[in-house]
Amino acid sequence: MRYLILSDPHANLEALEKSLDLAQGKYDKAVCLGDLVGYGPDPNAVVERVRKIASAVIRGNHDKACAGITDASEFNIFARLAVAWTRSVLTLENLAYLRQLPAGPAKVDDFGIVHGSEEDEDEYVLSAEEAVRVLQAQHMPLVFFGHTHHQGGFCLSDAGAFSAVPLSAMQDGLVTNVPLSDGVRYLINPGSVGQPRDGDWRAAFAIFDETARMVEFYRTGYNLSLTQEKMVSASLPDPLIHRLEFGR
Ligand code: ZN
Repeated sequence: MRYLILSDPHANLEALEKSLDLAQGKYDKAVCLGDLVGYGPDPNAVVERVRKIASAVIRGNHDKACAGITDASEFNIFARLAVAWTRSVLTLENLAYLRQLPAGPAKVDDFGIVHGSEEDEDEYVLSAEEAVRVLQAQHMPLVFFGHTHHQGGFCLSDAGAFSAVPLSAMQDGLVTNVPLSDGVRYLINPGSVGQPRDGDWRAAFAIFDETARMVEFYRTGYNLSLTQEKMVSASLPDPLIHRLEFGR
């Protein structure tokens, strides 16, 4: 079985469609680690697309805020404005869909999916210190997480050896293959489809090949200027429009 692992599409339809084009024919089952909406200009289309293709979807902090489960008071002003705009355009059906999304962690066959971490769906696992703590407490050998919008991840062997997953993301398409070893716990971030923050503006996702015990990381450019034009038309905040081109 091959699994398409999507995270943080953030209402960016161009990035999602380009990722799905590239992944076409390469997977059997798709999952999404949350933040379907927030920031981008196409919340309805992205919710409908993810809903159609993914067999497991968990919620992210932006899904909660846009669905009215939380009040977005912890967001900065630009993210709050995007939440308010998203709420104003979401159809009742898509709003209801977002509202019923389960919190992680969820189990998908033999691996886990979370938005932030197993313990806290809103936690950012960015540093080695945070990753070691999370990996030590991790029940399953393989967990996929999102929320940070940084493609890559971390691993910890039973003997205590910790390392970050090495990535060299120069070309478009398949960037890196990471083989999984026995006796090692993995915390893997497929990257953000719709708003990468790891210095690379291109859409990111991963495919897990269960039989080959391998995670494949992908990057792909997409029609960024079209996404930005739609954001201008929607009067979404300028900093959100410009950060997309810097991958920040
Ligand atoms: Zn996010």
